[in-house]
Amino acid sequence: ASVFAGIAQAPEDPILGVTVAFNKDPSPVKVNLGVGAYRTEEGKPLVLNVVRCAEQMLINDPSRYKEYLPITGLAEFNKLSAKLIFGADSPAIQENRVVTVQCLSGTGSLRVGGEFLAKHYHEHTIYIPTPTWGNHPKIFTLAGLTARTYRYYDPATRGLDFNGLVEDLSSAPLGSIVLLHACAHNPTGVDPTVDQWEKIRQLMRSKSLLPFFDSAYQGFASGSLDKDAQPVRMFVADGGELLMAQSYAKNMGLYGERVGALSIVCGSADVAVRVESQLKLVIRPMYSSPPLHGPSVVATILRDSEMFNEWTVELKAMADRIISMRQQLFDALKSRGTPGDWSHIIKQIGMFTFTGLNSEQVAFMRQEYHIYMTSDGRISMAGLNMKNLPHLADAIHAAVTK
Ligand code: PLP
Repeated sequence: ASVFAGIAQAPEDPILGVTVAFNKDPSPVKVNLGVGAYRTEEGKPLVLNVVRCAEQMLINDPSRYKEYLPITGLAEFNKLSAKLIFGADSPAIQENRVVTVQCLSGTGSLRVGGEFLAKHYHEHTIYIPTPTWGNHPKIFTLAGLTARTYRYYDPATRGLDFNGLVEDLSSAPLGSIVLLHACAHNPTGVDPTVDQWEKIRQLMRSKSLLPFFDSAYQGFASGSLDKDAQPVRMFVADGGELLMAQSYAKNMGLYGERVGALSIVCGSADVAVRVESQLKLVIRPMYSSPPLHGPSVVATILRDSEMFNEWTVELKAMADRIISMRQQLFDALKSRGTPGDWSHIIKQIGMFTFTGLNSEQVAFMRQEYHIYMTSDGRISMAGLNMKNLPHLADAIHAAVTK
């Protein structure tokens, strides 16, 4: 007998559950396109060379201990992270208006930011795009906010529903929080253009909507760290306030190290000091202080110009491989004469393609071709390579001509 005997079996996480099913499949031709983690052309996980070097340096440094970090994490990591996303010459940083705390990767940064807002901000509604990363509504709801949605993706064009987005944000109550994917929107791979970002910025500032940026893919979208940060920097340049959740999972390949940061750009240095004091009260009872290894690796790389440059080269190589897989998948469907317009595969950006395949087609491809993806038809381009790409093209062709 157990006091927990009455507990119901919880459903598998819709994204991580894809990998569970994949692992159970004995087929030698199986392909996992569900998980949002980079794979090499050989289908293997990748530890960046520059990360290996940084780890070696840390191991060889006898002055390093395993003491606790402060509640807010590694100070140098926090400074360098703010510089990376906001730009080295950001006036907000120079005016000491930015407070940054190290958190448990992107997820932890969103959660801490959410709880801070629930405790200290007058408006508790956060608008998230439809669709969005499946964890967003749960993170913010558990943090004490109320999640509502704004239109984002238009299935007809497989592009941005810009008019719908503008309409929904225009009718949001004054002061509402708005979650924005900084670049490489997950799951759609659809980002606003710079012009559209500028219109979104003007609209949001005119209605005092508070931006909460989620940056999980800086450098992964275009291959350039600065270019991918441009929308965020437009919002900082106008002098307004915002929140920023940063993750190093994808762009430094530090997934399991759980390294990220929450920054809050405040109206003045004085406010920033008080905001930081309150962030500590959110973090302390949640997990006391963040981990040491990941941010030490990141700081080692970001502080050294040579290692930084090596990182940008390795990062661009990952982004370029993904971009080349897009082109090759598009070409493969074209050469098979697969019905439909597949140009969205090369127009979308970042780690994922929102194929437009429906859940029935997704199930068919799993059953008949052992190809695994989330039921919304999202595929991770990073899981593709020259070997499995023809198999995927065959499967898509069969699914749409069935
Ligand atoms: N936000 C988005 C849009 C994501 O796609 C992810 C990861 O898939 C995250 C945040 C958080 O990832 P992590 O907590 O591993 O940094």
